[in-house]
Amino acid sequence: CGIVGYTGGRATIEVLLEGLSRLEYRGYDSAGVSVIDGGSIALRKKGGKLAVLRSSLEVAPLPASATGIGHTRWATHGGPTDENAHPHLGDEGRLSLIHNGIIENFAALRAELEADGEVFASETDTEAAAKMLGRAYRDTGDLTTAMQRTVGRLEGQFTLLAMHAEQPGVVVGASHNSPLLVGYGEGEHFLGSDVSAFVKFTPSAAALDNDQIVTITPESATVTDFDGNPSEPKRFEVDWDSSA
Ligand code: GLU
Repeated sequence: CGIVGYTGGRATIEVLLEGLSRLEYRGYDSAGVSVIDGGSIALRKKGGKLAVLRSSLEVAPLPASATGIGHTRWATHGGPTDENAHPHLGDEGRLSLIHNGIIENFAALRAELEADGEVFASETDTEAAAKMLGRAYRDTGDLTTAMQRTVGRLEGQFTLLAMHAEQPGVVVGASHNSPLLVGYGEGEHFLGSDVSAFVKFTPSAAALDNDQIVTITPESATVTDFDGNPSEPKRFEVDWDSSA
């Protein structure tokens, strides 16, 4: 339902929670965040309101990190449990993925992946995409290339964000019939399902076109189509009172 991604020098968890709280108006039933911590993925996700996630993070904080993703979920496949909340993991826990929308062909993909030894931890359509992306990463060693391979096999509508423990400082996003925006900062970049995810931090934004992939690092934001052909998104300034 609500999506935020960040890489840069700020306190990542705070950026993610701020983004998610600005996306609360869309409605949701669960929330989760994950960050890259010294070569592995750290994750926290909870059914219920953002306040439940927040208090869990106060009791047991996740490590400081320069890269993270956060999600508020409006369940379509599987009830609003902790297990079904996003992020979902792939590549044996080294890859973390969040998703807005519906993957229509998830049952066939899941059956194929399970037949090949993947073990699922949730009832969501999303987890099939996480496991597929993890396998594509294992084949290619690059998250952007892995995303190009994966999106071609997904039917339905989706915004996806993913990160891999071996590529700290990188978040890759993809969108198909579902919005995804980039936020541009100095030595930092943001991704959001809506500009409100990052408007507190930067007014400089661009919306992806349908069927595009974006790779952000602190220093760059690179957009291509699903085949890898580069594209220059049109940037605009968000004309909002970000202090609201
Ligand atoms: N279909 C996914 C799920 O049920 C994502 C729902 C959403 O957009 O929040 O987990």
